[in-house]
Amino acid sequence: MEIASIYKKFEACASVSTDTRKINKNDMYFALKGANFDGNKFVNKAFESGAKYCVVDDKNAVINDSCILVDDVLSTLQSLANYHRKTINTPIISLTGSNGKTTTKELIRAVLSTTFKVNATKGNLNNHIGVPLTLLSFTKDLDFGIVEMGANHQKEIEFLCNIAEPDFGLITNFGKAHLEGFGGEEGVIKGKSELYDYIKVNKKIAFINSDDTKQVKQISNYQNIITFGKAKENDCTVEFKSADPFVNLNYKNIEIESQLIGDYNYGNIAVAVAIGQHFNVPSENIKNAIESYQPNNNRSEIIHRGSTKIILDAYNANPTSMLAALKNLKQLNAEHKYLFLGDMFELGKEAEKEHQAIANLTEDNFDENIFLVGENFYKTTTKSSTKKFKSFEDLKPLLKSLDLSNSTILIKGSRGMALERILEFL
Ligand code: ATP
Ligand code: MG
Repeated sequence: MEIASIYKKFEACASVSTDTRKINKNDMYFALKGANFDGNKFVNKAFESGAKYCVVDDKNAVINDSCILVDDVLSTLQSLANYHRKTINTPIISLTGSNGKTTTKELIRAVLSTTFKVNATKGNLNNHIGVPLTLLSFTKDLDFGIVEMGANHQKEIEFLCNIAEPDFGLITNFGKAHLEGFGGEEGVIKGKSELYDYIKVNKKIAFINSDDTKQVKQISNYQNIITFGKAKENDCTVEFKSADPFVNLNYKNIEIESQLIGDYNYGNIAVAVAIGQHFNVPSENIKNAIESYQPNNNRSEIIHRGSTKIILDAYNANPTSMLAALKNLKQLNAEHKYLFLGDMFELGKEAEKEHQAIANLTEDNFDENIFLVGENFYKTTTKSSTKKFKSFEDLKPLLKSLDLSNSTILIKGSRGMALERILEFL
């Protein structure tokens, strides 16, 4: 069936679903396949749960006239998303980068929502399935749609750009994340820059952090940019005031006191301010939006337990964000500091070197109370005062015995380490 015909049916549906456990009445169900499941097998369940149509790619799954048989369900979902994007023609702001995408997306959403009708990626739905689902959730009446794009290998951002066709783009930063799939740090820069390549070829607009020399280099020879940063020459100047622990900024002589910790959040906030300014959001609204935004989901959250202050940054970790978190802890005015650092995943052949580098750096900057958890950290060479644990299980007995009153604790590791479990023991 032609995409145009499928689109007519989509327009008659409430929304789109890929999971029969979460279907709503009148949804269009896409029977996706995964490594361990085949959505074609759940068509009956989908109709029982209220689906209006089921898009399938196994002819045995066609059980009635409301089944739409296609060659490939996933690519149909992607084509439909692009068709919808073209039809509604809502201005799209896309962002990618190694760290801080979701935080930045939420900050931009907060700023623009003060003045416009805005929708954005839900949670972290930022891949080849999440981006189409995000686009299909956008409606014609929106002033802006914000699309987070994640990637762990080359050509992925290019692919997502061709589906979302962004009008505005930004990259939060180039860091040492997903080194394995991208092929080293240069590979990350090349892969993430596919967003800029799209912007350049299609003469769209990019927001550039002029303090980030790597980004400036990637976008050189392109005029259609809006710059932001600390210097006066920028289109949008955002002064950095302090980060103790929360980031404070100055914008047009207005002080903005964020609830985000770590100076690494400066760039995340600054681009949201720049986008607000570009679209004429009143400065007071920008201030209120940024000040009201609270991180969640273990992303640099501050938690108080009695006299213990916990920086819970257990959502994810890679060498760049680990470095940023260590720098932040170092700068904090606190008496007793404890560090619980978990393995950083997806580093491929760089894993040994990067874990050793973080272990060294930690020992160079903190005297004691260093706890390293995970198979990679376990293999590093450290001082005898640094305690290493192969797994979270091995760490448990120690957690039960520690007295952490009056201390500041940093908890950071990759998602798979789930170091937020430490909280149960504090
Ligand atoms: P994902 O790849 O999972 O989508 P993301 O890029 O969306 O991640 P966030 O979820 O916003 O990133 O933030 C995750 C963590 O990254 C934060 O808790 C913080 O530790 C770190 N982080 C955020 N911004 C930066 C930054 N600009 N530089 C370094 N680290 C950052
Ligand atoms: Mg994210």
